[in-house]
Amino acid sequence: MVLGKYTDVMTVRATDKALLRQSQDGGIVTSLFIQALENGVIEGAVVAMPTDEPWNPQPYVATTPEEIIAAAGTKYVLCPNVNMVKMAAREYGLDKIGMVGMHCLTYAVRKMQLYPFGARHLPNRMALLLGIFCTENFHYEGIKAIVEELHRVNIEQVKKMDVSKGKMIVSTTMGDRVEVPVKLTHNYVQPGCFVCPDLTARTADISTGSIGSPDGWSTVMPRTQVGKDLFQSAVDAGIFETKPIDPGKFGMEMLTNLAQKKWDRSVKTRQERAEIGLPNPF
Ligand SMILES: Cc1cc2nc3c(=O)[nH]c(=O)nc-3n(C[C@H](O)[C@H](O)[C@H](O)COP(=O)(O)OP(=O)(O)OC[C@H]3O[C@@H](n4cnc5c(N)ncnc54)[C@H](O)[C@@H]3O)c2cc1C
Ligand code: SF4
Repeated sequence: MVLGKYTDVMTVRATDKALLRQSQDGGIVTSLFIQALENGVIEGAVVAMPTDEPWNPQPYVATTPEEIIAAAGTKYVLCPNVNMVKMAAREYGLDKIGMVGMHCLTYAVRKMQLYPFGARHLPNRMALLLGIFCTENFHYEGIKAIVEELHRVNIEQVKKMDVSKGKMIVSTTMGDRVEVPVKLTHNYVQPGCFVCPDLTARTADISTGSIGSPDGWSTVMPRTQVGKDLFQSAVDAGIFETKPIDPGKFGMEMLTNLAQKKWDRSVKTRQERAEIGLPNPF
């Protein structure tokens, strides 16, 4: 239950080495959006595009493979992709829209599809939701403080950020790699994340993240018929190499345990809020 409904779960990476280098993990999101664009499943996708302010992305409607590639990589910052969905329909005139997001974003879209108040024509245009695993996230000021005060790195010199094995890792343009324990970053987490129950974006068409697979690979969970068909088309086209996920403590066991841990954190936080009279979102 804690991982939601899925049709399959496996370890996957893109076969395109250049794309892999630009992506966060196995290049799953970028590859799937390009495949969906080229197969006519979507006409564009809302992604988190870098801006002039380093590591402070903005939602962006990407309509070409080049734009999708330019938005690859994880930014540990709030990026409200849902806001741009309306613009994708109204200003870009897209009939088939894709979007990437963690649980809070994919869930918002699914709710909109169920209760389409004020979202005229939008629900039917959502053609593909790619979900990314997420434990927690930060405001821009928070991630800037983490990088500059904990890692002691100028944010302008950050090439990649990653979270792995209890460490937040910053790789710099100068070739340095600086790690700090993730527990030191907890004071900077946006408070809403402690209420959030879902690690694996259970309402997406396909979910993916690094937990459960070796470095450079991704865990991939197609969940709906749309997701299953798209993923299979990418495998058939040679875009991905796949292998069974490790059922043991570094694979499915770890994924299930961490998902359960996030679920339990949400229950505990909601109880604590209720005890002091604070409202809960669900
Ligand atoms: C805040 C955050 C927390 C995460 N926490 C975990 C975790 O705890 N465990 C885990 O296994 N994985 C986590 N992930 C997911 C992981 O970092 C990768 O994004 C995921 O594995 C996809 O990798 P990829 O190589 O397939 O993606 P890529 O091909 O590199 O594409 C990544 C896509 O995500 C979009 N994106 C990047 N940042 C954001 C953002 N802030 N908001 C919305 N969209 C964004 C990009 O625009 C791009 O389209 C987290 C991601 C984020 C954004
Ligand atoms: S922890 Fe939940 S609320 Fe916070 S960014 Fe991730 S999915 Fe959204």
